[in-house]
Amino acid sequence: MKIMSDVLIIGGGVSGISCGLIIGSAIEKELYALNKTVTIIDSGHSDAKKAIFNNMIGFPIGVTGEEVLENAMKQIQKYDSITFLNDRVIEIKEVLNHFEIECNSGKVYKSKIVVIATGFKGYYIEGLDIKAFQHSKTMKSGRVQIDNDNLKLKDNVWVCGNLSGMSNQFAIAAGSGAQVGVNIISEWAGEWKVIHDKVGDK
Ligand SMILES: Cc1cc2nc3c(=O)[nH]c(=O)nc-3n(C[C@H](O)[C@H](O)[C@H](O)COP(=O)(O)OP(=O)(O)OC[C@H]3O[C@@H](n4cnc5c(N)ncnc54)[C@H](O)[C@@H]3O)c2cc1C
Repeated sequence: MKIMSDVLIIGGGVSGISCGLIIGSAIEKELYALNKTVTIIDSGHSDAKKAIFNNMIGFPIGVTGEEVLENAMKQIQKYDSITFLNDRVIEIKEVLNHFEIECNSGKVYKSKIVVIATGFKGYYIEGLDIKAFQHSKTMKSGRVQIDNDNLKLKDNVWVCGNLSGMSNQFAIAAGSGAQVGVNIISEWAGEWKVIHDKVGDK
């Protein structure tokens, strides 16, 4: 049987996980998000795995991208609403009021909302008539972005991270993922929302 998620994030690197964490934290706290679910599908090649981050505010000096992503996975595991799968998405199909997402393994997942967070080293997913073109904020060839309107491609389809055309910096990729997360929960709530924890919370 195909699992139906409310949100399926393609790409579990910096922007995809950031998006998932905002939505997961809303699901835990907010009535408008009660019982919603998130699936993240990742092929395991985040650019952050090659990085050392000395210019990320508040990060320990010399922290590696591997360490940061390991911590991010621990954060993801805190949320029962989030399922993280290792696979590669090859096609997105729009079917009536949802999407079917096919993976290299042959598995197909269903979701009401899709977020594309696959980085900027090419775009190889069939479907939705998405065309990638040269990224406008790097001189390196082979780096791509896709058209979007404030991170939205169309109803229920979003893009974040380097693929959205933003500059290739960790904070910017994470920020765009967080913005897509906020946009999605705000659409659920019917008004602008943010999710904050504060000192004294359990
Ligand atoms: C060597 C190096 C050093 C860097 N140093 C710094 C630095 O010092 N400071 C800084 O701010 N930034 C740095 N960066 C940049 C930072 O790592 C990126 O900006 C950030 O990782 C981009 O996030 P993203 O989510 O767009 O892409 P990524 O983090 O690359 O994540 C994309 C994910 O999508 C997955 N994916 C792709 N296609 C599919 C598919 N079809 N199905 C499923 N999953 C898929 C990939 O496997 C990957 O895990 C560095 C990058 C590199 C390469």
